[in-house]
Amino acid sequence: MAFDNLSEKLQNVFKNLRGKGRLSEADVKAALKEVKMALLEADVNFKVVKNFIKSVEERAIGQDVMSSLTPGQMVIKIVNEEMVKLMGDQTTEIALKSGNEITVIMMCGLQGAGKTTTTAKIAGKLKSKGKKPLLVACDIYRPAAIKQLQVNGEKQGVNVFSMGDGHKPVNIAKAAIEHAAKNGFNVVILDTAGRLHIDEEMMEELIEIKTNVEIHQAILVVDAMTGQDAVNVSEMFNEKIGIDGVILTKLDGDTRGGAALSIRAVTGRPILYVGMGEKLSDLEQFYPDRMASRILGMGDILTLIDKAQAEIDEDKAKELEKKMRKAEFDFNDFLDQMQQIKKMGGLTDILSMMPGVGSQLKNVDIDENAMSGVEAIIYSMTKEERSNPNILNPSRKKRIAAGAGVDISEVNKLVKQFENSRKMMKQMSGMMSGKGKKRGGF
Ligand code: GDP
Repeated sequence: MAFDNLSEKLQNVFKNLRGKGRLSEADVKAALKEVKMALLEADVNFKVVKNFIKSVEERAIGQDVMSSLTPGQMVIKIVNEEMVKLMGDQTTEIALKSGNEITVIMMCGLQGAGKTTTTAKIAGKLKSKGKKPLLVACDIYRPAAIKQLQVNGEKQGVNVFSMGDGHKPVNIAKAAIEHAAKNGFNVVILDTAGRLHIDEEMMEELIEIKTNVEIHQAILVVDAMTGQDAVNVSEMFNEKIGIDGVILTKLDGDTRGGAALSIRAVTGRPILYVGMGEKLSDLEQFYPDRMASRILGMGDILTLIDKAQAEIDEDKAKELEKKMRKAEFDFNDFLDQMQQIKKMGGLTDILSMMPGVGSQLKNVDIDENAMSGVEAIIYSMTKEERSNPNILNPSRKKRIAAGAGVDISEVNKLVKQFENSRKMMKQMSGMMSGKGKKRGGF
């Protein structure tokens, strides 16, 4: 995962700071020197690092220490705030026209950056927001690119406009906008041609489109794996054709991630989204504050909450809460919970977003299989057994173990754990309703 190294290093610096009651100027300077090294190693642009450290230092030294924070915590707070600022403070949305007025988006970028994939990902996002997007194949040099767009468009359930490779991209764009107006599409997304390197011809082509067609948003797709190059490419595209925002792809890979911290500061243009995988759903909105807390090892609790909100069925959750209060929770609910966790991407995914867990997780082998073992045991129970675990006698347990292909001790273990949690819930709900006041001290 991107930022693992940086995260680990920063956490070490902070661990040392946190232990100290008072911080001298020299302590702060020494800590910031380490922060600086860590950022440079993560491939953050040199100038960006220099300015960043300067701002943090100015604020950290001679700062009135807030009474609720230790000096160490104060430095961490300042680093966090400056990091958020570096990435642009606010989340920037792709600016869309309202109602049925057509927004024209021009996607550009070097070959291999992930432009065509990202174009389809964006179309999917817009569609889910109730827009009617039209994808347009303007890459006339690689027939494979047209095909790829068509395949991805189909997967997303989004129409693709193509005129083959016999027309100039600018004319294809014009025809597509006319087609969109006639057929009720309200966002036109142009997938333009990339090259392996920046060259005049590619830039000319983009400029030609931009001067002859009203482009409302020019979005650049860059590959996070290319580090500083991604920043240079962004700067050049912005100078030559003017871009409104950047999408940083492949942040799921083992990249050092410096581009995420540098692009906004160098180009003045915001990162809009980040690509987190090859699947068409792997595109996440970019939140500077969440990214900063992820980098600082504070985890990404907010993203986790978002995921949970998107995946969890609220009615079911309420129902479950009620059952838990009454300690009526059964194996069917247990199974439901496991499925929710799976939908959210599995335990490893969830844990890696928890504060303090992220950077340590890469050395830990989480046994996701243990979960499927438990699942197999529950699936081997009859409906009655699942809703009334009290009837689980030895012969039933034996049958279940055979059905799940596990030893009977595994079944016993699960049933025991389950009973313990039920007992605990009963006690807790007793306390909450006041019955346990004397003992529990709540
Ligand atoms: P284009 O030449 O810029 O249009 O690039 P493509 O869309 O063809 O993508 C190039 C490769 O990068 C493909 O194999 C994509 O699946 C892959 N790719 C694109 N975005 C991401 C991403 O966010 N994460 C990962 N891991 N791979 C990506």
